[in-house]
Amino acid sequence: MYQNIIIGMFGSLIAAAFLVFGISDSNTYSQKFDWFVVMSLIIFMRFIDAMYWYFKLSGTDYDGNAAISRCITGAIATALLWSAFSVIFYEGMNEFEFAATMAILCSLAGGSNSTLVGHKLTASAFVLLMLVPISTRAALSDNIFHMYLGILGLMFSVAMSFSGFRAARLTLDTIKLRNQNTHLVAKMHQEIQQVDDVHKKLSEAYQNLNDTNLSLEQEVERRTLEIRELSDLDPLTQLYNRSAFIRQLNEMAQKCLARNNSIALLFIDLNGFKKINDTLGHKIGDAVLVEISSRLSAFANDYHAGRWGGDEFLMLLPYSDQPTAISVAQALMTRIAQPLDVMSNQLHLTASIGIAMLPEHTNNSLELIQLADFAMFEQKKNHAAEPRMFTPDLFKNLKEVEKLRDGLQRAIDKRELFLCYQPIVDCESKHPWSYEALLRWDFEGSLVSPDIFIPLAEQSGLIHDIGAWVLNRACIDASQWQHSLDASVSVNVSIIQLLDDGFIDILDRALATSKLAAERLHIEITESIFADNKKRVLAQLDAIQARNVQVSIDDFGTGYSSLSQLQTLNVDIVKIDRSFVQNIHHGGEAIIRATIFIANEFGSKTVAEGIETQHEADRLAELGVDFLQGFLFAEPMKNDDLRVWVQQHANSWQVTS
Ligand code: C2E
Ligand code: MG
Ligand code: MG
Repeated sequence: MYQNIIIGMFGSLIAAAFLVFGISDSNTYSQKFDWFVVMSLIIFMRFIDAMYWYFKLSGTDYDGNAAISRCITGAIATALLWSAFSVIFYEGMNEFEFAATMAILCSLAGGSNSTLVGHKLTASAFVLLMLVPISTRAALSDNIFHMYLGILGLMFSVAMSFSGFRAARLTLDTIKLRNQNTHLVAKMHQEIQQVDDVHKKLSEAYQNLNDTNLSLEQEVERRTLEIRELSDLDPLTQLYNRSAFIRQLNEMAQKCLARNNSIALLFIDLNGFKKINDTLGHKIGDAVLVEISSRLSAFANDYHAGRWGGDEFLMLLPYSDQPTAISVAQALMTRIAQPLDVMSNQLHLTASIGIAMLPEHTNNSLELIQLADFAMFEQKKNHAAEPRMFTPDLFKNLKEVEKLRDGLQRAIDKRELFLCYQPIVDCESKHPWSYEALLRWDFEGSLVSPDIFIPLAEQSGLIHDIGAWVLNRACIDASQWQHSLDASVSVNVSIIQLLDDGFIDILDRALATSKLAAERLHIEITESIFADNKKRVLAQLDAIQARNVQVSIDDFGTGYSSLSQLQTLNVDIVKIDRSFVQNIHHGGEAIIRATIFIANEFGSKTVAEGIETQHEADRLAELGVDFLQGFLFAEPMKNDDLRVWVQQHANSWQVTS
């Protein structure tokens, strides 16, 4: 409306000036002049308002209702003023003036159709206000000319007001649509802008990603290589690890099978390594493994040797036959048996080697390793100094081992385990000082040696349950020995058991349940307590000794431990191994003397194991051993037989003591 009304206002002003100054007669001039002044003032105010809209409001977020009200008021005021003009001055108008006024009012009314098109009511009201008063007046006149024009004016005003109303409605709809459109377009622009922004950001990020990716790809490539090497190689020996070796073996197997050739697989297991590791520590153990690995590598092409785990190695000989494989294995055994100089220790090791052939024995790589392992195990068991080629009869032995392992799981529940006791006697009085509890397993009617089932129990973890059962049983039995109230009970404890967190609880429970005085319990641990985790061992030994339970080192002298290590351990009893007693005339005596001397120095008692002859007993007594144990006095006996044995021998002790 504001955009259009300027023309309308000027139209009104010019028309008013024409009527007042152009054709007015002198009678009405002064009144018309006043009217003109009022009209000019109104138009001026409307002009100011229009300018205000143009320069201040347009394009801003202004109050539309107030502006519309002002605009309408101005238009209606103008129409009213025109209406007043026609009514006031009608009487004095001559024909020409009336015609001119009618023509001007009609054209202004017609023009308002477009200038006020923005407001429906105003558009029609303007037309009606302009034309209806003068037309009505004229239509009612006696003057026929006035009457016609009046009627025409009325018709025109109705038509114009109706068309003005419609035009305004159309315009409003259009404006509304345009506004909506503008709004939509603005929104669209905004969205396009946002999409553009996002695009820009995305392409920046993409560029960054590309840059990063490029350097990442290089890094990943480098790392992959590194990881592949790391994941393929055993970190200690730098030989292929299990998975890499199997992969290599699979590839090689396919090639050899395709060319009708054979592969020999050597399973190499070191003998005596555990002892080195346990007694000299893991550092030396590791150095030994590294040295052995380099000896193996000298016999194998790249990547044809691998570490299977612990002290087990694998070697594959492609395009090989059985005699060649045996010769290589023999050469390897000789090489491994050569002395090792490790951290100023001269060490000796041997190896057991089992061999299996692909495709002669199997087509499957994993099974090939298993068969070579069987063959190796057989050699180890027999302490054989030759490599062993796999033969089907080996399966039988292995099945026996598996059967034992299965049987052992149920041995406690099936009450197949029982303890035998072997006296450890005082050297002078021959009076029993302690009884060593030795575990027995009656499996399917025959006794299995503890040398066989204890390692099996250790490997399978069953040693924890079995060991706890032994400790408990031994404490209960000892607490009920009416025949030997002063004697102790010596219980063998595997190092695996000792290092277990729950061991001290098990010990406490056994003492509490049996009510055995703690002083009457001795714990026997093999020399492997000199192992690397000395701190933990010492803590456990302290805890045991804090309960007044005594600690023995079993089989002393068979490992690589030095006598001086006795000092750090502060054990109560040292048990000299049977092998020294047997070799007493072939150098064993010197070791026994040294052991007794050092043990005495550190305040430990000594026991000599495996005394079978009176001569050995006498000689050891002379050397100063405190206690003796062996078949000479008694073989391990069932608990019930112990009482009988004590009764039979009681007299002789009284005589000697
Ligand atoms: P060890 O603790 O050194 O036990 C002494 C072994 O020497 C026993 O063998 C015993 O029967 C045998 N022996 C004793 N005197 C003589 C003798 O004069 N001549 C000969 N030739 N042998 C003699 P055993 O009972 O076969 O036990 C073997 C090993 O099994 C034990 O050696 C011990 O290390 C282990 N062991 C036995 N019972 C248990 C147990 O309950 N727990 C654990 N962890 N190990 C056990
Ligand atoms: Mg023992
Ligand atoms: Mg022993």
